[in-house]
Amino acid sequence: MKITGETKIVGVIGYPIAHSLSPILHNAAFKEVELNFAYLPFLVRPRDLGKAIKAMRALNIVGMNITVPFKEKVMSYLDELSPEAKIIGAVNTVYNKKGKLIGYNTDAEGFIKSLTTEGEFNPQGKNVLLMGAGGAAYAISFALVNAGVKKLTITNRTARKTKALLAHLEKTFKDKCELSFLDFSRRNSSKIMSKVDLFINATSVGMSPEDPLLINPDLFAKTTFVYDVVYNRETKLLRAARKRGLSGMGGAGMLIHQGALSFEIWTHQRAPIRTMRRALEEICCAI
Ligand code: NAP
Repeated sequence: MKITGETKIVGVIGYPIAHSLSPILHNAAFKEVELNFAYLPFLVRPRDLGKAIKAMRALNIVGMNITVPFKEKVMSYLDELSPEAKIIGAVNTVYNKKGKLIGYNTDAEGFIKSLTTEGEFNPQGKNVLLMGAGGAAYAISFALVNAGVKKLTITNRTARKTKALLAHLEKTFKDKCELSFLDFSRRNSSKIMSKVDLFINATSVGMSPEDPLLINPDLFAKTTFVYDVVYNRETKLLRAARKRGLSGMGGAGMLIHQGALSFEIWTHQRAPIRTMRRALEEICCAI
């Protein structure tokens, strides 16, 4: 990559940030399509978030990905939000359009794209169990209801957060699908699990190799599809699901598709998905 006086800067803000794989994805993509862009990681302390976002205007930074723990907090510093970001209540992409900062959420569409393309799973009319009620779960549940799932059951360690997410979905979508609360202590109920077409882990459990297996895939039907949002390794959950003979996938596909959508917002060009996938595979994780 050659940095010149005309190089356009994009990047990612988070705390921590060193684990981020987005610089690898995006810089490989810029190189492939010969765009004079560079993607940088920015470690921003929580108290400096407002200053960092304002600096996008001062430094003429074209775009920014936003990661943990800022996806919700960043919204108050932006000039405009896309309809999805407004509904989901989280922003993972900011575009600096001639000084106007616009927030988008590409996690939701990135998830559905990976599920339907690499996963070859159509969620329409399906019975889904989602574990988690953090930022990823908000984007994924929004995407699933929009994609026409029949029933969505949510379970999360902190019940208060499950209830808040369900209330948010009820308010947003009214009767678009059947929504159901599952107490976390009952998540391994064979009665519930045997009827699930799609299970999604949207918690951070699995990121570390020592993390426990929170759900027993032996209790799913043979046709259940298991999706784990964790992308930095093949998790215990996916290994156990594969051992049972279930189809499934990790979060690398979602990472690529959400990144590709951000790329397109910033550059107005089609993202080279295959190059982004290859770049990710080279350093860690196959889809
Ligand atoms: P978050 O907002 O901090 O939420 C974390 C979630 O994990 C909460 O539901 C939390 O439950 C749960 N959790 C954490 N530790 C747990 C434990 N020991 N036992 C049970 N539940 C636990 O984070 P997030 O932004 O939603 O991210 C969640 C995961 O998704 C991360 O691994 C992140 O890397 C991944 N992600 C992947 C992509 C992708 O493109 N593949 C995109 C976004 C996020 P409580 O509510 O009880 O704390």
